[in-house]
Amino acid sequence: MLSRRIAERLRGCETPFYLYDMELLRQTVEAALAAAGRYGYRVHYAMKANNDRRIMAYIAASGMGADCVSGNEVRRALETGFAPQAIVYAGVGKKDSEIAYALEQGIFAFNCESKGELVVIDSIARELGVVADVALRINPDVDPRTHSHITTGLPENKFGISPQELGEVVEMSGDLHNVDIMGLHFHIGSQITDLEVFATLCAKVNAAYAWFAGKGFRITDVNVGGGLGVDYDTPDARPIPDFGAYFAVFAGGLELPASVRVHFELGRSLVAQCGELISRVLYTKVNGNGQDVALIDASMTELLRPALYGSRHAIENLTGAGAARTYTIGGTVCESSDIFARGLALPELRRGDLLSIKSTGAYGAAMASRYNLHDLPRALFSDEL
Ligand SMILES: *Cc1c(COP(=O)(O)O)cnc(C)c1O
Repeated sequence: MLSRRIAERLRGCETPFYLYDMELLRQTVEAALAAAGRYGYRVHYAMKANNDRRIMAYIAASGMGADCVSGNEVRRALETGFAPQAIVYAGVGKKDSEIAYALEQGIFAFNCESKGELVVIDSIARELGVVADVALRINPDVDPRTHSHITTGLPENKFGISPQELGEVVEMSGDLHNVDIMGLHFHIGSQITDLEVFATLCAKVNAAYAWFAGKGFRITDVNVGGGLGVDYDTPDARPIPDFGAYFAVFAGGLELPASVRVHFELGRSLVAQCGELISRVLYTKVNGNGQDVALIDASMTELLRPALYGSRHAIENLTGAGAARTYTIGGTVCESSDIFARGLALPELRRGDLLSIKSTGAYGAAMASRYNLHDLPRALFSDEL
């Protein structure tokens, strides 16, 4: 891991900050593109995972498209070098102003999540005198076997159009002259490590495509979303996800005419492992239960995932090498949930030791807040150090 190699140089840097390994990002993006390229698949970067301008500009230059979930994300994608025709726009609650902006920019397609949204897109497109290309986001009822907070394709989730409502949408769409339903979209969840789940998704995609084709729709694009997980437990052992195995599942499972373009929206799997949150030990103490507690200068405002869904990140003591002790690692914020780890064995921590919280390139900096009036975290890049 990068931080271990350059620990001495990091000692003088003000903490906390995100450290990005641009070489690992390059290798990861290349691995994904090579694996997708075998089947002619198109990859869009789900930029909500990390909207840092340098990272986005790198990915844009690699040739990937962008998957956006807000008007501001569309704007940043354009600013960082993604072509309008490489941008797809999903999001369960798009505002009118955001829809109008995306239409004016001429993005590739909207991933439309409800009947009501389709009507609004149609009316705004009519006002602007354009026809909006739309992929319908279908909620396929596939259990991704991941954390309940990052499940999006089950009937109880708020995302997508339910199979029950599809009939109505299709019936109504004949009257909407400013939308062209040219695509189908699916996204079932995140941090999916069981590839069988994607095989199940393929069967649903095939059925949906056949259903739409049977109704006379000319579906030119099918977007199967993202969700490929990463190894949070042993990131050093497996820094690059197995993209080959992932895309092979779709190549084996999708039954679509060769002319239909297949799109993916990868976020976490592209950027999680290239980022580390570097923090410094402020204080150590023993709590009322006799347990060692270390307070570090990062918190849930820099990295929300542990507090938000109890996620665990591997943590390394970069500067200490003494005998191991078992710690609760807490942040600086006045919330009991601001805990990064419990029962974690690390070489004895002393004030000033540097810690690396690993695999934080995705949904780390992007979720940072100014709660407690903290500054937003800085970013340092391996090729600038
Ligand atoms: C978040 C999201 C993604 C990316 O998910 P990852 O698990 O980070 O790959 C893709 N598509 C949509 C619609 C999303 O909301």
